[in-house]
Order: sequence, then structure tokens, then C-alpha cells
Amino acid sequence: MTLFAKIIAGEIPAQIVYQDELVTAFRDIAPQAPTHILIVPNKAIATVNDVTATDEPALGRLFTVAQKLAAQEGIAEGGYRLIVNCNRDGGQEVFHLHMHLLGGRRLGAMLRGE
Ligand code: 5GP
Repeated sequence: MTLFAKIIAGEIPAQIVYQDELVTAFRDIAPQAPTHILIVPNKAIATVNDVTATDEPALGRLFTVAQKLAAQEGIAEGGYRLIVNCNRDGGQEVFHLHMHLLGGRRLGAMLRGE
């Protein structure tokens, strides 16, 4: 079971801000911006490389939930960034596909090295 699967199942505490039959959203434990929420398919897909066509409803839901949460957080108009990291060079640390929703400050240039 992945760390995020345990959060989705309620076995590890997290600040869950949204949950439905396809996705769960919770606040990142080490926020990089005033709003930093992870939106995660309930089904544990390891990386973007492992996605199949049957995952399309859950992956589409990541965006509609991101949109809803951005409005709820008051950052929709000001703007925000959605990030999905894949594997080593992408900086992925947790191998359960997730979308970062970041906002609430000027996020600056798109890419930053280590
Ligand atoms: P990645 O680098 O895989 O795209 O992002 C993993 C994210 O998960 C990081 O931003 C990290 O802070 C967050 N994270 C790691 N462990 C936990 C945890 O136990 N709880 C929560 N809420 N977030 C976590």
C-alpha cells in the first residue's frame, strides 16, 4: 500500500479537503506555497507512465477538483500552478500519481534546479 493509499483509507492522518469516489485531496505536509494541496486518484497508479485509458475519468477529475479547490482557496483569479512529477528527473518522491495545486503567492519561474 502506498503512503497516499493509507491517507485515502484513513490509516494515516492528513488534512483532507475533498474526497469522492475517484479522487482524494489533502494538504501537503511540507507546503511550498500558502496553498499546497495534493489531489490523488483513489486507485494507486504509480506514475504517469503507468496510466491507461481506463484511468481517464479519474485523471480528468483531478482537473475539475483542482478548479473547485482553487476557487475555494481564493486563488482562482490570482492564479496557481498544477504539477505532476514523474520519476527521478521529474522529482517524484511518492509513487502514487498525484497533482500538486500550488498558489497564494507569486510562484516565479517555471523550473528550478535542485
Ligand atoms: P512528489 O515529489 O512525489 O511529486 O511529491 C510528494 C509530496 O508529498 C511532497 O510535496 C511531500 O511534501 C508530500 N508528502 C510526503 N509525505 C507526506 C505525508 O505523509 N503527508 C502529506 N500530507 N504529504 C506528504
